[in-house]
Amino acid sequence: MGYKNICLDCRKAFNLGTDFNNIKVANCPECDVLMKLMDHKFKPPKKGDLKKWQVVKYLAENGFIYQHVYEKIEIESNIIVSYQNYTSYPETLKEAKDFVEKYKAQAIRK
Ligand SMILES: [Zn+2]
Repeated sequence: MGYKNICLDCRKAFNLGTDFNNIKVANCPECDVLMKLMDHKFKPPKKGDLKKWQVVKYLAENGFIYQHVYEKIEIESNIIVSYQNYTSYPETLKEAKDFVEKYKAQAIRK
């Protein structure tokens, strides 16, 4: 377990461990595209599971890297003041679109 860099094109995940100091952005060793850093809770789909990877890609591009997302949050002056219940991540692209829309306030912005 630990943080992972993933290549969305090669559909590969590289473990980075759990020490945040060792985490860095890197290019994919195979295709040299900049990889996406994912939260430690992310579990990569099987390489051949294209549908799941499509979901992962869609979520990652919209600021969801499998960090905790709460069912309900209250934000005041850009600070989360209260939150309830972790929500689970979607399994299909259709669910992912609803998810991104519903939780866009919690997306990670670059
Ligand atoms: Zn690659």
